[in-house]
Amino acid sequence: MNEYAARLDSLRAASKGVALYVSALVNIRYLTGFSGSAGHLLVAEDRAALFTDSRYETQAAQQTSGLELEITFGDSRPAFADAVRKRRIKRLGFEKNRLGYAAFRFLERELPDCRLAPFDNAVEKLRIVKSAGEIDAIRRSVELNSRAFDQACRKLRPSWTERRLAAEIEFAMRKLGAAGSAFPTIVAGGSQGALPHAEPRDAKPAPKSLIVVDQGAILDGYNSDMTRMISLGLPDRRQMELFNAVLEAQQAAIDAIRPGVELQTIDRRARQILRKSKVDGKRLDELFAHSTGHGLGLEIHESPRLAPKQRKRLQEGMVVTVEPGVYLRGAAGARIEDVVAVKRNGCEVLTPTPRQLRVIE
Ligand code: ZN
Ligand code: ZN
Repeated sequence: MNEYAARLDSLRAASKGVALYVSALVNIRYLTGFSGSAGHLLVAEDRAALFTDSRYETQAAQQTSGLELEITFGDSRPAFADAVRKRRIKRLGFEKNRLGYAAFRFLERELPDCRLAPFDNAVEKLRIVKSAGEIDAIRRSVELNSRAFDQACRKLRPSWTERRLAAEIEFAMRKLGAAGSAFPTIVAGGSQGALPHAEPRDAKPAPKSLIVVDQGAILDGYNSDMTRMISLGLPDRRQMELFNAVLEAQQAAIDAIRPGVELQTIDRRARQILRKSKVDGKRLDELFAHSTGHGLGLEIHESPRLAPKQRKRLQEGMVVTVEPGVYLRGAAGARIEDVVAVKRNGCEVLTPTPRQLRVIE
């Protein structure tokens, strides 16, 4: 049985006999391999059918196997509704966190004799634990992302604006084979670094200030995510204290990663380290304004979340980011982020880039 057929079977087992309408393209890709930009998947007890339009006729046939394919000219939703009626499906599950309101109303109108049952992240729950093949795909994406960072840093000139560096990083990704960046690259120097999701400015980062570089690539559908700190000349002691505290917090969180540990424990480890240091009279854990990490895979943000109050436990095969940060408003920010795979006896950091501050003289 191929990996996709096994995933469809796992979904059927989770849905306990209810036919499912999978509308999220990323979930369709996970379940079938089809990567087109339009499609609707019906997963019934004994078979699965993919509905897409004529732009994807060849691609759908190449990427999938063991599925019924129905190709329409234009919108394929009417054909989907037709198939549900023809199969006399009386109860149809839909992805309540994914299906838009208009699409839901369409189903209500077209399928008056069918009960529409919301289901909660059924495919996303399968995606939390990655297969060996998926971990390899994430590793390749992570390694490409690191090479792009390295290439852009080697070319970096003090005359470059934040926007120029972000563009060079993304250009390097594309030249190395990425489909694109996983999100708009963040380059944030000095006080901009205190905004966790800063937009690169058309301005040069100040010399001797911490610069946050947060970047991710997409390769073969899989995302990577990394944050590194660079500077043009060595920053002052106060900024180095911020950096070193974040580095220590990140290492402590990584050291705690192994199967069976509660997600909140990893987050707490990072906060415990930050609590020991102060800058400008403020405890650093109070300047850590987000959770410690997130899963990633076909999407840049997936379950699980390494965050307070998350009582579920890490499992072998999960892949998460570890990214504590501190943000000192109006002054500076520091964040360090790696991708980590949970292994049977611990974990493996997939990101090859050294975590030290990269000082460009
Ligand atoms: Zn990131
Ligand atoms: Zn991240």
